Amino acid sequence: MKIVVIGAGYSGTAAANRLAKKLPKAEVTVINPRPDFVERVRLHQRVAGTAAAATPLTTMLRTGITSLVGAVDKVGAGSVTLDDGRSLDYDYAVLAVGSTVQPLPGTVPVGTWEGAERAREALATLGAGSTVAVVGGGPTGIETAAEIAAARPDLRVRLVGSSVAGSFSPGPQARVRAGLERLTVEIVDDEVTKVTDGVVHLRSGETFAADLTLWAIVSGVPDLAARSGLAVDESGRAIVDESLRSVTDERILVVGDCAAATGGRMACQVAGPQGAHAADTVALLAGGRAPAPYSARYLGRGVSLGRKDAVGQFTRRDDTLLRAYVAGGPAVVIKEMGTRGAKFSARAGIGS
Ligand SMILES: Cc1cc2nc3c(=O)[nH]c(=O)nc-3n(C[C@H](O)[C@H](O)[C@H](O)COP(=O)(O)OP(=O)(O)OC[C@H]3O[C@@H](n4cnc5c(N)ncnc54)[C@H](O)[C@@H]3O)c2cc1C
Repeated sequence: MKIVVIGAGYSGTAAANRLAKKLPKAEVTVINPRPDFVERVRLHQRVAGTAAAATPLTTMLRTGITSLVGAVDKVGAGSVTLDDGRSLDYDYAVLAVGSTVQPLPGTVPVGTWEGAERAREALATLGAGSTVAVVGGGPTGIETAAEIAAARPDLRVRLVGSSVAGSFSPGPQARVRAGLERLTVEIVDDEVTKVTDGVVHLRSGETFAADLTLWAIVSGVPDLAARSGLAVDESGRAIVDESLRSVTDERILVVGDCAAATGGRMACQVAGPQGAHAADTVALLAGGRAPAPYSARYLGRGVSLGRKDAVGQFTRRDDTLLRAYVAGGPAVVIKEMGTRGAKFSARAGIGS
């Protein structure tokens, strides 16, 4: 049996390793644009220089799995075509291409490896007293602004967002803002409308000058599913059945950020388990058995505020918020354990 896994992030790596474990006779091939596994949840650290965020894929994949460096252009009808013309046949394919960014012109995105590399290089050229604007009040923006402010106290960091830390309840939200202010991040409660010649324009009509503007919002997904003719939702995510199979083509499983699975938000705590579940679905189908339904299981939401502070709020299994939250040292430990756990689970193919 031939199985092709497209994308080696948290979901694809977990899927490939579990497939190799459960179906040792199958030929499992992983296709990824670079020879590294990127810990996307550490990209803000990559930008600020506090973590490498990349590990050779060969050390992440079980022996026997083949990895190819390349980008898939099309998948369907039992065949995957790469953008360099190569093609591979499959019995099952796992689509795990993650999500992407849609930066405004004049900004550098931090949510992809390539963008984070550009941001890191640009940041390194900035002299003391320079201003860095970080666009996005969600977790990526908060973590990026905080990480840079902590690592480069010589810079002026301004975080612009219309609802900074809005995914937390009021208590932890206030604690996130206090933590940012402690790191001297200036919070601008507004929306960026455009960036021209180093001037950041806000919805309120105000402007300010920035030497570097980072786009810290993750939105949208690669159009591979849509381009390949798979049914997608309004955001381009592939629509799947309860066992994570594309509703268009049962031989294509879709996992992680690019899957429109019920209750699935874009998070590595969802991506890994979905990758593992997809592997189980393939193994059951290969054994002539019915696949089991997937159900999302959440633990909490958290943001790091540099290396010495963090805030985490616990959630119910269905992602609704509980009142309880932690901050400071204990939250730093929990956040770091979660980050390491996600990588460990992908490597072990255990998914959670
Ligand atoms: C700075 C930052 C901080 C974050 N922090 C957290 C956090 O604290 N907790 C949390 O749960 N989530 C967090 N996230 C979100 C989390 O990183 C994603 O939800 C997770 O990476 C999704 O995993 P995935 O496997 O779906 O996709 P990814 O990890 O993005 O992997 C997708 C892979 O597919 C590859 N690919 C894309 N197109 C193709 C193609 N055509 N052919 C082949 N390969 C392709 C990509 O290059 C990539 O290697 C954060 C994200 C960012 C950017």
